[in-house]
Amino acid sequence: MKKLVILFAVMSILAYSDTYKKENKTIRNSAGTVKIDGKTYNSVAQDRRVRFVILHYTAVDKDQSVNILTKQQVSSHYLVTDDSSDPVYNLVSEDNRSWHAGESSWGRLSNLNDSSVGIEIVNMGYTGTNGEMSFYPFTDDQIKKVAVLLKDIIARYNLEPTSILGHSDIAPQRKQDPGPLFPWEELYKDYQIGMWYDEDAKSSFMTSYSTLTTPFEVQTQLEKFGYKVDKTGQYDKQTTNVIRAFQFHFRPAKYDGIMDSETYAILLALNTKYKK
Ligand SMILES: [Zn+2]
Repeated sequence: MKKLVILFAVMSILAYSDTYKKENKTIRNSAGTVKIDGKTYNSVAQDRRVRFVILHYTAVDKDQSVNILTKQQVSSHYLVTDDSSDPVYNLVSEDNRSWHAGESSWGRLSNLNDSSVGIEIVNMGYTGTNGEMSFYPFTDDQIKKVAVLLKDIIARYNLEPTSILGHSDIAPQRKQDPGPLFPWEELYKDYQIGMWYDEDAKSSFMTSYSTLTTPFEVQTQLEKFGYKVDKTGQYDKQTTNVIRAFQFHFRPAKYDGIMDSETYAILLALNTKYKK
């Protein structure tokens, strides 16, 4: 019985992947017949749909998360619940776009639904307002599941560390998730997932920020890293939002959106490491 189940599983995987494979075949339908040759020529110019993984929290409980992500006009490829006995739910095939990112950009790319896998994590988000936000922690089980899932996705698409981002990174004007309690540093140090800065590099840049550093220079460094920011030369609201998104990800101890020596040193250390 067990063997039979495995056989059916393998057959269904093969049948599924066949749909997308390049192959020799003959198409016959009411319009006529045509031979397809998928073997003779191969193009060099191509890439995979999936170039990023975007992490989210749902900001509602498990039942509401399932309801919203399966029945409304928003979705994600994966859902990690807060019940440790649950599997990770796969809601949308990775071959398809799921609708998780909304209006978004990173580097030269925009509308990241086109080019990413979205992972939603059940977590209540935050209470309070912008000035005094208090975030809910993730469970160890959730982080472990996310790490296993990320390792698998990264290996299958051969993704760079720079490809693993939070929703707030790609939509800093609108979004806070996965928030400052999402353990990016732990993912990097324990599982070699995503980006983190080197302490030595950070130390060497600690004196880089001064009263002479202009908002334009700060905006230029943020843009170099990947954030969408208008280079207005002012610490305006949109710049504060981007700085805060950066702090959520890389300086979770302080996320007031105000540039300082440590935040700037981390930004320069990251640009040196990943954006040569
Ligand atoms: Zn989100």
